[in-house]
Amino acid sequence: MDIHEYQAKEILAKFGVPVPRGGLAYSPEQAAYRAREIGGSVWVVKAQVHTGGRGKAGGVKVCKSEHEVEEAADRMLGRKLVTHQSGPAGKMVNRLYIEGGVNIAKEFYLGFVLDRSLQRVIVIASSEGGMDIEEIAEKNPDSIVRVPVEPAVGMQAFQAREIAFALGIPGAAVTEAAQTILGCYRAFRDKDGTMLEINPLVLTGENHLVALDAKMSFDDNALFRHPDISELRDKSQEDPRETQAADRGLSYVGLDGDVGCIVNGAGLAMATMDMILLAGGAPANFLDIGGGATPDRVAKAFRLVTQDKNVKAILVNIFAGINRCDWVAQGVVKAVEMTDLKLPLIVRLAGTHVEEGRRILAESGINVITAANLAEAASKSVAAAKAA
Ligand code: ADP
Ligand code: MG
Repeated sequence: MDIHEYQAKEILAKFGVPVPRGGLAYSPEQAAYRAREIGGSVWVVKAQVHTGGRGKAGGVKVCKSEHEVEEAADRMLGRKLVTHQSGPAGKMVNRLYIEGGVNIAKEFYLGFVLDRSLQRVIVIASSEGGMDIEEIAEKNPDSIVRVPVEPAVGMQAFQAREIAFALGIPGAAVTEAAQTILGCYRAFRDKDGTMLEINPLVLTGENHLVALDAKMSFDDNALFRHPDISELRDKSQEDPRETQAADRGLSYVGLDGDVGCIVNGAGLAMATMDMILLAGGAPANFLDIGGGATPDRVAKAFRLVTQDKNVKAILVNIFAGINRCDWVAQGVVKAVEMTDLKLPLIVRLAGTHVEEGRRILAESGINVITAANLAEAASKSVAAAKAA
């Protein structure tokens, strides 16, 4: 789960990470009021959307008066912000964060991710902040330092200081930098983060460190033990198809193709998408309906997949181990009847009670194309989608 910049900053502040003074605004008037509350003479109006690259897309505006703040807010609110990270559909701007302007002397990059091959949290830092880490990796790979954290003891103060030295942070600010890096690490660890990115982390003209931007994602499977984090979810920033799926306990990722996929098991779902591509088609989604899929769940999956207007054919691929093919077949028949399905439907069943499952499909009278194996199912689905 992703959260907004202002939410991430609120969390980080609790872990001792210095952040600029700021306040949330839902209207231009409120934005001007926030600026007055914050004080000073320079403010930054920042669109709160679940995507990066806002600065280059007009989603971050430096303002020199309350009037400018109000105008910038008016321009951003209620519009979709399209950035190079958001995808062409963009993200709707419903909230703004108004921040005090910071006197930037130097920008750094600081990130925390899980390195799956090392099975460790690693800290990634660079003296070249402000641009995307991908761009830094391309243009100045030598500026990047990677420090793995030993899970048994957590991040050590000396490691944080080493990172600060590697970034070339001046002596007077090293202690503050080390505290900031440790604070970020603790927030990431305590809240079960999967990603934390401070880009830029800045050194101010007064030799202080400030997290000027903050992006944070959390492990969905650990949200149950962080009700405070779950509450921060903003469904308006998510793909509505994925939100609906999550609410129904299904694991769904929307894609751009035209073959809808209903599969049990994440690995089989991945293999199914590969086979569709191999057959010259493109999957419309990833969908794992889970191991113990009941007829009811299959019906929910159908409704979800058919909501996507790009879908021209549906491929149901079930390998029943825990599940039973006869239940799945009942679910398919029920779903076709309930949703009044007009699209070509390709079904491949294998595993427990497969004969019974095939019999149910054959005798149901629904229009279904059956396939004996995955390759056949994929090529029949692609052909059906192309013919539609
Ligand atoms: P994004 O990464 O989405 O473009 P950032 O929060 O990183 O958004 O802002 C983009 C740039 O705007 C920063 O690199 C920084 O130069 C400037 N900026 C952001 N917040 C402030 C602030 N409070 N004071 C001064 N400059 C800022
Ligand atoms: Mg940024």
